[in-house]
Order: sequence, then structure tokens, then C-alpha cells
Amino acid sequence: DSLDAADRQRFAGSYAHRKSALSHLAYGVSSTPRATQNPVAIAVERGEGAHVVDVDGNRYIDYALGYGPLILGHTPPSVIAAIQDELGRGLRTASVHRGEAELAELIAACVPSAEQTSFVSTGTEAIQLALRVARAATGRVKIIKFRANYHGWADGIHVGNAIGQDGASALGQDPQAAQSVTLLDWGDAGQVEAVLDASFAAVIVEPAAINGGCFEPPAGFLERVRTATQRCGALLIFDEVITGFRLALGGAQERYGVTPDLSVLGKALGAGLPISAVSGSRAAMEILSSGRLMHRGTFNGNPLSVAAAIACLKVLQAERGEIYPRMEGFAAQLCGFLNDEAVRRGVPVRARQAGAAFQIFAANGPVETLRDTAKVDKDKTLVFTGALLRQGVMTLPRGLCYLSSAHSLADIEATEAAIAVAMETMA
Ligand code: PLP
Repeated sequence: DSLDAADRQRFAGSYAHRKSALSHLAYGVSSTPRATQNPVAIAVERGEGAHVVDVDGNRYIDYALGYGPLILGHTPPSVIAAIQDELGRGLRTASVHRGEAELAELIAACVPSAEQTSFVSTGTEAIQLALRVARAATGRVKIIKFRANYHGWADGIHVGNAIGQDGASALGQDPQAAQSVTLLDWGDAGQVEAVLDASFAAVIVEPAAINGGCFEPPAGFLERVRTATQRCGALLIFDEVITGFRLALGGAQERYGVTPDLSVLGKALGAGLPISAVSGSRAAMEILSSGRLMHRGTFNGNPLSVAAAIACLKVLQAERGEIYPRMEGFAAQLCGFLNDEAVRRGVPVRARQAGAAFQIFAANGPVETLRDTAKVDKDKTLVFTGALLRQGVMTLPRGLCYLSSAHSLADIEATEAAIAVAMETMA
């Protein structure tokens, strides 16, 4: 009832949808964070290129991009044609088919570590598979994970997802499940060198800490973790669910020149359809490629997702020289504009860029390291992303933004104008 009258009008259809959805759809959404959008979870009617249109007919420049997967936008012609072509052959769910081998070969051509690949459907599942591979391959149990890195919602790894929250953080989570996980500070290679020994199966890391707030790795961090894992016979797992095919065609491992034993891929791989993968060197994947480790799943390698992924990687491969520099240049332009405007107006909102992703946040003081994100004001960030939404710019509610190949210079300039107006409401 405290709702702004203009919001009620502008987002009438989304409010009405939310109210009716709550009657049978638990919490009215299919993933909890989607309900946090301010002022209301926008009910999306359709997507077109880099834009979405909601049920009220409002159009947005989309930087949420399905929480990352839509690297070619909402309507990439060759991906949609591949899906349609695939539909013509029937669904073929859980069949052995040629596409899955073709996709694995394509991934090997794109991602430095990916000699062999196994498919599952979500990032959470792929992380579970990668941890199982590491434990089976080494005969060890303990894992090193970094604070504020996120590796999905499974009980065994869902710990330390934010600075200042080291415990099991989800209601209903088995408090024992993550006991084999040791939490360290991301970016501090010295901690890894001090703690890692031959009792650890793996170190798992977001090579660029996108979930923590878009931090690129400090110089030498990934290299030293690579050396330390090799010394102890532990596997190095890069969680490239976000960074894969986004920071470069070959992901963070290409961008930073450090090759892990195992890579976890998801999101952008399927251009928006559900598919994820564990890839790795022949040695690291031997436990899977020999058939000794059980890798199960009805929907693994489903032909529709595989067709979308093949089409997506072919576009990224063919146009990598244009797509990546353009996305990164646009992200830099937007972050530069936002930071200049904020400083000029004295508004405590900032943006941090990591390649074709950036994080907008409101904070009580400078945020230069992952540890500083304790100063981020989550409520004020939601106010700012809500102000952007009213100006036709959609971000993730918590301020994370992605670029796609479908964003144009006109979109970026319109976004700058929206940022300027949203800033006025924050002054
Ligand atoms: N790993 C990272 C780095 C992620 O950002 C996510 C999801 O955002 C996951 C794993 C889990 O992926 P999914 O949501 O597909 O289960």
C-alpha cells in the first residue's frame, strides 16, 4: 500500500501477475533472487535482441540477460534456426546423438583446458560433478573454496558466499555437508600456499570474482595457485560458469593465461538453453572418460540445448575479433560514465568492470578489493537498480550487469541518459 502511484500504473501488469502467481507458484518465481527486483519482479512478455518488453508494454535495454547466458541476446538468428531445425527431428531426449560429440570437439577448440568434456544441465550440477571427479581422481576429500565466490546451491559447496558469512548459509542445508570445505580469501595466494597440502583434492575458484562484485584476479594470484596445486597433486578447478565464453572465447583461462585441470562451463555455453559442462585435460578427465566414475542424468546432453550451444559457439568463434572487444568497450564506456557522473554529483554509487560484465553498487566508502564489499549497501543498490528500471534499463536486482553481442552504441547512449536521470533521484 505504500507503493508509489506512478509505479503502480507503470508496472500494473507485473504487480497483478505477482499477486496471482503467488497463489500456486511458490514465492511467485522459479528462483528466489528474481523476486528481489525493485520495485516489483517484472513479468517479461518477450525478448528481442538486447531488449525485453514486459507485460505492460514497457521496453528495457537488458543487462540481466537471463542472469548471464544470453551472450548473443534474446533472438540470435542462427541459434533460433538451429533450435527449430532440431525440433524437426523430434525431441530425442536422452539419446546418444552426433551433436554431443560435435559440441565437445568445438569446446576443445575454444577452451584451452578442454581436451575432454562431459555434459549436465545446470552450473550447480556441473560443480557437483567436478568436485566428484577431483575426489575420485585424487582419493582425497578436502576442498579449498574462496569467500564470496559462488558455486551453486548444492549443500556440499554452498558456504562462504558473502564476505562475513563463513557458515552454511541456506535454510535447510545439512550443516555437516560442507565440512570438507576450507574457506580462504580470494586473491591471497599466500594463504593457499600456507594451507594447501597433499590432503586436499582440489582448489575451486572463480578466476574472476564476478559474483563478489566483478574483480579481476590480482597479478600472480592464479599463477601461484596453479603452481601450489601442482606441487600438492590437487586439482585446480576454474568455475567458468559466468566467465566461460564471456571474458574471452576461451574464458578466463584464455584471458589470464592460466590453464586449470578442470573447467566448469554453463550459462553462455547454451546461449540461453540449459546446458553445462565439466571439461578438462585428458589426465584430469580420465576417471570419467574411462567410465569408472558414474556420470548420470536424464537431460544430460539434450539435443535441443546441444544444438543451441553448437550454433552459439560457432558465432562466437567466427566473430570473436569483433564481439569481445565491442562488449568490453561498451562495459568500459558505461562504467566510466557512471563513475564520472556519481563523483560529479556526489552520489555514493559506483561501477566495477571485469571484461563484458560489470557491477553497479552503492557503498559506504571505496570498494577496491573483494573484502571491501562488506561496505556495499544492498538496500541502496536496489533503490538505484529500481531507478534504472523506471528509466528502461534492466540489471540484475543486485546490480550485476552483462553485455551481449546484440547491444548497440544507441543502447549504450540511451543507458547513459537513463543513468543520469536515475542519479538525480539518488542525490
Ligand atoms: N557457478 C557460478 C560462478 C555461478 O555464477 C552460478 C550461477 O549463477 C553457478 C555456478 C550455478 O549455476 P546454475 O545457476 O546454473 O546452477
